[in-house]
Amino acid sequence: MPTFTSAASETGDPLLLTPGPLTTSATVKQAMVHDWGSRDAGFIAINKMVLEKIVELAGAPDTDGQGTHVTVPVQGSGTFAVEAMITTFVPKSGKLLVLINGAYGQRAKKIAEIAGRAVSVHETPEDRPPDLAKLDAMLAADTAITHVFAVHCETTSGILNPIVEVAALVARHGRRLLVDSMSAFGALEIDARAVPYDALAASSNKCLEGVPGLGFVVCRKTALAECKGNATTLVLDLHDQAEGFAKTGQYRFTPPIHVIVALGKAIEEHAAEGGVAGRGLRYRDNAKVLIDGMRAMGFRTLLGEKLQAPIIVTFHMPSDPRFVFQTFYDGLKERGYVIYPGKLTVADSFRMGCIGRLDPEDMKGALAAVREVLDEMRVSNGGPALVSEQDAAE
Ligand SMILES: *Cc1c(COP(=O)(O)O)cnc(C)c1O
Repeated sequence: MPTFTSAASETGDPLLLTPGPLTTSATVKQAMVHDWGSRDAGFIAINKMVLEKIVELAGAPDTDGQGTHVTVPVQGSGTFAVEAMITTFVPKSGKLLVLINGAYGQRAKKIAEIAGRAVSVHETPEDRPPDLAKLDAMLAADTAITHVFAVHCETTSGILNPIVEVAALVARHGRRLLVDSMSAFGALEIDARAVPYDALAASSNKCLEGVPGLGFVVCRKTALAECKGNATTLVLDLHDQAEGFAKTGQYRFTPPIHVIVALGKAIEEHAAEGGVAGRGLRYRDNAKVLIDGMRAMGFRTLLGEKLQAPIIVTFHMPSDPRFVFQTFYDGLKERGYVIYPGKLTVADSFRMGCIGRLDPEDMKGALAAVREVLDEMRVSNGGPALVSEQDAAE
């Protein structure tokens, strides 16, 4: 049964109600107190286990190297993995259609442009999923589009994009899909057997609850095999990185060893919690406690139930003139909870994350802190001046 221990009792650090880096367990941190050489057999075995477990979590176990997918790691933060995915998979003659409803879609567009790839965009407001009919029409009209880029959970707002429907549509048009599942992978199921993609990028420090420093891309092997020479960068060439592993089992350049060993421990704890289903359940419980509690104090969420992923929740800024965000932020920090400023263009907002080594009791603690800080500011109600149509309809 679940072996969850709240991080609150383990260290004196504030809890991070942020979308990553996030609060990790004491045991994950303790995994880093040793040194290994990058050619150390013990480290190579841990790294191999980590890469195999990731592809297993993606729903495509690579038993004896006979599976359909492989994990290719990338030293660096999540964006390094996204950039590696785009430059490796989209050939110089290709064209990438980017689905944008937040900062991470925008970032992918910028990456493709810098890499000199042709780009087109389907953009919707931050509180709206992509329009599938429009996507269908764009794919039919523009035969130059070779690849589509979609964000699974757009962390800017916390919206859950319809990745299964997008994948089916892209496959129906015979195009290739690249997924940024950074803030969802490990907690929200995305099964490679059911959701056709060429590549999916994520990182060590989000729902897998490791520390930052390793990105990775789950690649469909036959698609990756076609990518030799595509990359317009040496360090982010996934084809070359994968060849290096196939030949020597080693990284081409110094790996973040401590991060990888900590990720191995984090993946063990992920399995002990019941894998993707178990982790997703805890995050859903966290999100429910948080949303119900904040609503009871008058706060309004940006998104309705159907669009809200249990990863990070965007709240409208309260309209009470006595509410000062910096005071609110500092008051929560003093009480041991770090929240996240908003990043939206559609509304003035702030965010609170549900992921990391946090459980519903921690969320209740955060709610009690919110109440105290509001009382100190003499704000009785967290409601915004204007309620979005979607929220009102919900
Ligand atoms: C966190 C995140 C990334 C990567 O961000 P880094 O700061 O580079 O780790 C990319 N996409 C999404 C959706 C994310 O949430």
